[in-house]
Amino acid sequence: MRANSLHHERINTMTFKALVVEQNGDADVSATIQELSEDRLPAGDVTVAIQYTTVNYKDGLCMQPNSPLVRDYPHVAGIDFAGTVETSNDPRYFAGDKVVLTGWHVGETHWGGYSQKARVNGDWLVPLPDGLTTKQAMAVGTAGLAAGLAVIALEDHGLNPNQGEVLVTGAAGGVGSIATAMLSKLGYEVAAVTGRPETEEYLKSLGATRVVARNEIDTAIKKPLERPVWAGCVDAVGGEMLARVLGQLKYGGSVAAVGLAGGAAFPASVIPFLLRGVNLLGIDTVLHPFEKRIKAWQRIATDLPLEKLDAMIRPATLAEVPTLASEILAGQIKGRIVVDVN
Ligand code: NDP
Repeated sequence: MRANSLHHERINTMTFKALVVEQNGDADVSATIQELSEDRLPAGDVTVAIQYTTVNYKDGLCMQPNSPLVRDYPHVAGIDFAGTVETSNDPRYFAGDKVVLTGWHVGETHWGGYSQKARVNGDWLVPLPDGLTTKQAMAVGTAGLAAGLAVIALEDHGLNPNQGEVLVTGAAGGVGSIATAMLSKLGYEVAAVTGRPETEEYLKSLGATRVVARNEIDTAIKKPLERPVWAGCVDAVGGEMLARVLGQLKYGGSVAAVGLAGGAAFPASVIPFLLRGVNLLGIDTVLHPFEKRIKAWQRIATDLPLEKLDAMIRPATLAEVPTLASEILAGQIKGRIVVDVN
């Protein structure tokens, strides 16, 4: 009863709390929790009472001073959230509907999820997938959606569990943890690359069959073709590691390129494409079409073992976000952060 009346009271309150990033001069930003009135929310046709958000690598970038991703200050970052529709002028959504938002530059050019309320375009939302709570949807978040899209892309290019080991890079991070757990549940042998040997037990608990030290694989290519080892790869790292992996793929194998935690420059050779017929598959979550998003969320709800997802969660509050945003850029976050904004 008490919880209900508190919830009711909050929904009817015209102010809400948000983590507001402000620019201090040219080279610095500060983030403080502020009480804002609803008229500060940006334009949009659906207003959502947010329950959970998360911290992705890109959130780390958006909280940085002079972030090229953020256009105007004051800014509310947070590239994804899950919650309950409060008011809607979009015929597809009604008050009380549970929804999830990822992408569409929310948290970059439009105020995002580090807030108790958001106002967005209904086209950017998806209904909460069957089988997931709003908390679990944010444990998945943008990183998990990208991992799911990567697995689907690899399968669409012919990957199946009989072909051998699949490599996951940046494995102890968000994309990597979800990809590892999902591939393992689907019956793949997963080799997990990490720069943090202390995460070995964690990675094996997610289903990795072996752990590969980062320094074995993140050096510049010496030969364009190496011994073919991997049937496929979900890559969260980019840079030299991605270039090396291309030369280690089995004939016709694919890499799904998801991230750039190790760098955006790509010092590779075209030889693996020409002599081994390998594929480099680009993964984008921001503008990904609605129907395919829905399918990816359904696959995630079915193929991601929820007990493993729950074990990846590090709970956090809105006040902890600035620290966590710095930690994720330093590669120090294990698994997925879930922020309860209330
Ligand atoms: P995390 O920080 O959670 O994971 C990244 C992992 O990469 C780290 O945990 C670490 O894993 C590894 N890593 C970090 N720095 C380096 C380095 N210098 N060299 C090699 N490995 C490194 O981030 P996310 O999982 O949230 O995101 C991963 C990447 O995917 C980011 O670049 C992000 O922008 C991108 N991304 C792209 C999306 C898209 O739409 N394409 C959507 C979501 C994310 P370990 O310690 O195990 O080695």
